[in-house]
Amino acid sequence: MNNHLRPLLTHWQWQAEAACRGMDSAVFYSPPDERGEDRRRREASAQAVCAACPVRSPCERFAVSNREAHGVWGGTTERDRLEQVRGNRSDWRAEAPTSGVPGSNGVDISHATTHG
Ligand code: SF4
Repeated sequence: MNNHLRPLLTHWQWQAEAACRGMDSAVFYSPPDERGEDRRRREASAQAVCAACPVRSPCERFAVSNREAHGVWGGTTERDRLEQVRGNRSDWRAEAPTSGVPGSNGVDISHATTHG
């Protein structure tokens, strides 16, 4: 194996144990016109899969650190993660030094392939 690929492989290795591996991505991602009760029902179905998933924690960490804007990851909805990021950002600002770029953490926003 090419050594240059090892860090990337380690980064994604948790996905091999994902309970959602091979499932229809429509369980985890909303169609554009989904609203209200339909959305809550779909999210609850996805969260039930996540509840029994052995890699829930690394999945959630990945989604939060990469600011995954869509879908259910690690049992969290996009709304849950947005609230978490907003909370962390206000904590960060409270502790931040006077220099730096507020609101920028330099994290690459990439797209994972776990769902589907
Ligand atoms: S979204 Fe994450 S926690 Fe949920 S089943 Fe898939 S890998 Fe597991």
